[in-house]
Amino acid sequence: MSQQGVTPQSEDFARWYTDVVQKADLADYSPVRGCMIIKPYGYELWEGVKAGLDRRFKATGHQNAYFPLFIPESFLKREAEHVEGFSPELAVVTIGGGKELEEPLVVRPTSETIIGWAFQKWIQSHRDLPLLINQWANVVRWELRTRLFLRTMEFLWQEGHTAHATHEEAEAETLQMLGVYEDFAVNDAAIPVIPGRKSDQERFAGAVFSYSIEAMMRDRKALQAGTSHDLGQNFARAFDIRYTDENNELQYCWTTSWGLSTRMVGAIVMTHGDDKGLRLPPRLAPIQVVVVPIYRTAEEQGPVMDAVNRVSTALREAGLRVHVDARANLSPGFKFNDWEMRGVPLRVEIGPKDVANHTVALARRDIAGREGKQFVPQAGLVETVRALLDDIQASLLRQATEFRDQHLHEVRSYAELVEVVDDEWALAWFCGGAACEAKIKDETQATSRCFPLKQPHPGESGPCVVCGQPAREMAYFAKAY
Ligand SMILES: [Zn+2]
Repeated sequence: MSQQGVTPQSEDFARWYTDVVQKADLADYSPVRGCMIIKPYGYELWEGVKAGLDRRFKATGHQNAYFPLFIPESFLKREAEHVEGFSPELAVVTIGGGKELEEPLVVRPTSETIIGWAFQKWIQSHRDLPLLINQWANVVRWELRTRLFLRTMEFLWQEGHTAHATHEEAEAETLQMLGVYEDFAVNDAAIPVIPGRKSDQERFAGAVFSYSIEAMMRDRKALQAGTSHDLGQNFARAFDIRYTDENNELQYCWTTSWGLSTRMVGAIVMTHGDDKGLRLPPRLAPIQVVVVPIYRTAEEQGPVMDAVNRVSTALREAGLRVHVDARANLSPGFKFNDWEMRGVPLRVEIGPKDVANHTVALARRDIAGREGKQFVPQAGLVETVRALLDDIQASLLRQATEFRDQHLHEVRSYAELVEVVDDEWALAWFCGGAACEAKIKDETQATSRCFPLKQPHPGESGPCVVCGQPAREMAYFAKAY
């Protein structure tokens, strides 16, 4: 494990990110360009994301299933927009078992097509609806420019796929799952995301409407952290997903899909991290509390380790994720830096003085320096630690929200928009037109992130920031990952 620091965020944010991901032991590069090796600490963080989402999916009536990695190439071609959107990034298997395949197989970039094929078999009557399925899987998209967690050729995700009798129900499902993502991001990951609708240009290939949660990273760039799509009847028609209604008439279903990936790990790193490394929200941190024994002599070691074992056992029995750093031959200072790099929310230090006074020293990761440090009695430590972890969770969300709000600006003119999106987010009246969107993208490299569901001036309208035509909604614009 390296003891050297990371590149400061202010110096080179991209380098900072790569340094932290590697030095905090989240992930590493692989021999295959564009793929990554997720290390145990990073995978545990992802497992926390999975658990938080899976619980919410089940609470809203969804069931998990698993579909094949390979999809017949012809399936992709059935939905015209879908194949156009995904063709450039497909990995295709043409040889299997040493023989050329009759029909090439696509390694799934997403599973609307193969799940649509299965739905067509599973659904006959209105009594089979709604059908609410989720799959945890890996997908492959042949990306040319990749970055650990943020954009990799193979990544892990979940993809929800549902079928409904009416468009209203499908739209309600799409928004419900967007709400689930928002709830997870805000309450578990402490990321104050903005839920909204994508412009026509930015929507998913094959969707009628796409929605996303958008997050601001510490470099003020936007990251799309989860998406939810109203697919209308596009895939139902392409895969003949039909049901007989109450009048015994055949109707096409209305389907949705929604996904959140290992990108979320990158979002957590870039929302909370600082120049000392990661800062993890307690609800997702693989280790919530690290206990560091401090002693110099063999006489001190015995009583210190007794106290460390007593304290860590009590915290563990209370259901907290605790690690004791009993590594010999490493100084406490080295250990402090190491756990700060890994973003552990709370550090407990126990030395000979603490043994004598029946106290421990606590150091919070969310507040730097002396202000984050306190000495508390060993009695009642479980309650103290629980309350502190709750406070750290809330404090990370508050810090991220304040940071975001400082860098959001409502703009009234195109000149103002150009200036703001160079480094921050602009909120502007936007007609949603392709020409207006293209002009902004060409001239600023910023894209429309979303029309926020919560409009700042509901019921009002204003002139589109580009063309001046009346617009009924405002949209966020920013440079994005
Ligand atoms: Zn316009």
